[in-house]
Amino acid sequence: MEQSIESYIKNLVRDVIGQSIGGLQLQSDRQTYVIANWKMNKNLNETAEFFQKINSSPDVSVVICPPAQLLYPSHLMIKQSGKPIGLGGQNVHWADKGAYTGETSAAMLTDVGCEYVIIGHSERRQYSFEDDELVNKKVLHAIKFGLTPIICIGETLGQKNAMQTEQVLYKQLCGALKDIDSSHFILAYEPVWAIGTGQSATTELAQETHAYIRSVLKQILGQRSENISILYGGSANESNAAEYSAMPDIDGVLVGGASLDAKVFDAIINVFAKGEQNS
Ligand code: PEP
Repeated sequence: MEQSIESYIKNLVRDVIGQSIGGLQLQSDRQTYVIANWKMNKNLNETAEFFQKINSSPDVSVVICPPAQLLYPSHLMIKQSGKPIGLGGQNVHWADKGAYTGETSAAMLTDVGCEYVIIGHSERRQYSFEDDELVNKKVLHAIKFGLTPIICIGETLGQKNAMQTEQVLYKQLCGALKDIDSSHFILAYEPVWAIGTGQSATTELAQETHAYIRSVLKQILGQRSENISILYGGSANESNAAEYSAMPDIDGVLVGGASLDAKVFDAIINVFAKGEQNS
């Protein structure tokens, strides 16, 4: 709970400052993130091996999102390593507590050391039928408990081919951010056709889409939108990371497959760390 109060105050101060000088051009204060989504992969031994091998960088916020049963052991391993690595859940329920078999609340996530949680991933939208309304309930719940939601949005291949990308993203953004009066979240643009396919979005397309997302964020949140990190996700790897890191509206990556190998993930962290030093 100590952590929640601390992050609550930090974000409150940021929000109040953002509002009070909203009419002025603020210097962007965007954090760069390299976030791992392990999905339903790894056991205890593999997790221990990963945290021994992985490095971190003071220039990039590194966050690992393991499956639920590995959250607390991961928290202990990170603590023992002394490395500045954040921990996130891959999902959260919207209720504080109660008869919801198999679910995990935000308080439970913070209790085992989480500061982040992925919400609205396309696999949950597809296999667990999560819609924008449910995503919004989860986002509000996570923020209430001091977690930083990593909100995923993205169009399917059919929607892309039908030229509906902006329309889809607009609806997902307005849905997920309904009633939100905070800039205490991260967005991940994850085109569904790029996830796990090896078909990553071109950097031009990703940058263009991120700029569109930022323009919608500006409509919703005003000047505070400048401080919100927008990550790219979808077959990001050590070979394409440098190109993404050079784009002005790409503030990091959410990585699935390529995050499972510590050496590969390390290489991605290094790319974004160098990008920070050069900027
Ligand atoms: C993801 O599922 O969030 C993801 C980006 O996966 P991948 O990197 O494997 O495409």
